[in-house]
Amino acid sequence: MNKEHETAYERLKDRLASISDLSSANALLFWDRQTYMPEGGVAGRAEQMATLSRLAHEMFTDAETGRLLGSSGDPDPSSEKGALLRRVRRDHKRAIRLPAELVAEITRTTTLAEPAWVKAREESDWALFAPHLEKIVRLQREATEHLGYDDHPYDALLDGYEPGARKAQLETMFEELKGDMVPLVRAVAGRAKEEDRAALLHGTFTEAEQEEFGKVVINAFGYDWERGRQDRSVHPFCINFGPGDVRITTRFDKGWLAPALFGTMHETGHALYEQGINQGYARTPLGGGTSMGVHESQSRLWENLVGRSRPFWSHYYPKLQDTFPEALSGIDLEAFYRAINVLEPSSIRVEADEVTYNLHILLRFELEVALIEDELPILDLPAAWNAKMKEYLGITPESDAEGVLQDVHWSNGLFGYFPTYTIGNVLSVQFFDEAIKQRPEIPAEMKEGKFSTLHTWLRENIYRHGSRYDPDELIERVTGRSLVTAPYLRYLKNKFDELYDLD
Ligand code: ZN
Repeated sequence: MNKEHETAYERLKDRLASISDLSSANALLFWDRQTYMPEGGVAGRAEQMATLSRLAHEMFTDAETGRLLGSSGDPDPSSEKGALLRRVRRDHKRAIRLPAELVAEITRTTTLAEPAWVKAREESDWALFAPHLEKIVRLQREATEHLGYDDHPYDALLDGYEPGARKAQLETMFEELKGDMVPLVRAVAGRAKEEDRAALLHGTFTEAEQEEFGKVVINAFGYDWERGRQDRSVHPFCINFGPGDVRITTRFDKGWLAPALFGTMHETGHALYEQGINQGYARTPLGGGTSMGVHESQSRLWENLVGRSRPFWSHYYPKLQDTFPEALSGIDLEAFYRAINVLEPSSIRVEADEVTYNLHILLRFELEVALIEDELPILDLPAAWNAKMKEYLGITPESDAEGVLQDVHWSNGLFGYFPTYTIGNVLSVQFFDEAIKQRPEIPAEMKEGKFSTLHTWLRENIYRHGSRYDPDELIERVTGRSLVTAPYLRYLKNKFDELYDLD
């Protein structure tokens, strides 16, 4: 970098730091809205958040940002500077390609669509939502033409969540998953015994004690309370305002243990990633997780590979029984393990087990690709949804509310987002296998309620890099190969063959 490049780069970083501050302030307003804001704050808060987003967007797409990007030179892409410039140039290109009127139109449309979706779901009436979705899909298609793509318009949308991912690669991934999972689901269907069912986790579980137990677990995972806190919200999430403040929220259900128990581990997985990022990346675009899929791999790793495993519960189940003696004293470890790992097709994605979850995602992926291709009329969507449910899961939702209307994503214009959930599942095992290969003592430590070797390995290999590497580079660096489904399929097969005596 020569002097001129150096100066431009420093000025660019100052500018990006201010933009990051605006985004963090907006995130804090969001956090407050979801946790403590009184009902009366809704309208005012919407304005405040819109203003901050607009300021951040204007600053980012301003000609000055473009000029500084152009004058910052081309440092080695493997250096920190090179990585930062690459990411910012890509985001900037995306941001300036979308005309302001289109962005505004998308915001207006989705703002109206979400309440319409809420009502449509309440009344299970597709016709109330269909015209909104029609318009959203049209605008998404328009956006893809502005954003540009090589092979398929869906790639342009996907790229916003999973840089570098392509529809064709996802098709291969899902094809491989489907080949093993659909037969597995068929083989197991109806075999979950009554006592295995998740109903076992229903009973009376006081909120304070659930919270206390969750805290013990995430302390052991390595969640840093000096740089975090936990609050309550209807939809749990993890959010950060820089590396020094990474918060999680939880939903407690007094009659059902699972949502808070696994939800807390899940959100903590996201939080450990954010807390573990190199603090020198704060207020820069490198200071966050590299993609939605990689982020989800970390939440799933702690929730499923740790939190639904035998080693983990052999240590924690006696403690959980001590916490809730009335509900759990008559249930032994084995029964509990089976209860938290029931494999059973159901209509609702967010309640799905580890296997069927991906089939819910596959169905959404195929349908949204068809919508973006303009191959599927909106009015036919509910029937197409139900046909795929039948084909992949062998069930038919009782109503559109429990079918095509169950998720908020499409009403918010989130096309290309769903596949990142399955990318996360697949990667969680690829990363975990590598961790165990390098540090074989991890499972034995889990059995003792210790996670520091696993946490340290993840921080060293994944967390600390933030967004320095693109997802495909990171996966390659960490595991020596690109994303592969084999480890994930092997994991599921071993786990569920054993649970259901399939051999
Ligand atoms: Zn998540």
